[in-house]
Amino acid sequence: MQTFPGERLEPLLRHQDIQTRVQSLGKRITLDYTGKELLLVGILKGSFVFMADLIRSIDLPLAIDFMAMSSYGAATKSSGVVRILKDLEQGVDGRHVLVVEDVVDTGLTLNYIYGHMRSRGAASVKICSLLDKPSRRQVAVPLHYKGFEIPDEFVVGYGLDVDERYRNLPDVSRLIRE
Ligand code: 5GP
Repeated sequence: MQTFPGERLEPLLRHQDIQTRVQSLGKRITLDYTGKELLLVGILKGSFVFMADLIRSIDLPLAIDFMAMSSYGAATKSSGVVRILKDLEQGVDGRHVLVVEDVVDTGLTLNYIYGHMRSRGAASVKICSLLDKPSRRQVAVPLHYKGFEIPDEFVVGYGLDVDERYRNLPDVSRLIRE
């Protein structure tokens, strides 16, 4: 894979290990929701690759939808202000919602989404994130299903980007700027 000038990638999670973990998450979700219908809500754009693999490892009737949130700048970070850029197309009232995220960092985005889903009358709301950076957390969020805990490093690949690049890489890699 060609990197951009001044950037280097160091693999952190290999594609095969990600696949193995996603399969086991899917099995657990299948068991936990047996007899129920699921609505998986992917948070765009970073979760789309994870979401695509995850739904194929879940053996239940399910529907999917997506939301996009504003990325907040330094000024709004501490206040926890998060804005919806693209809302759901389906109602969540009475449904079992599983929010699918790429990485939980400060927790501000998921904290907002979690409260939002509950206030819209979902029967249940759980969160599934591929990656977790616990050392960066500012607000506690219930992380029901987690792929991997990673150190406080900026990562790309498997859907995650920097300036829209590297989403197509099969591995998750550290981005090193030289
Ligand atoms: P939080 O509200 O938890 O701070 O924000 C989580 C969001 O920040 C993720 O959905 C993702 O968009 C972005 N983010 C956090 N850490 C990383 C990272 O290491 N790499 C990339 N590409 N995005 C990240």
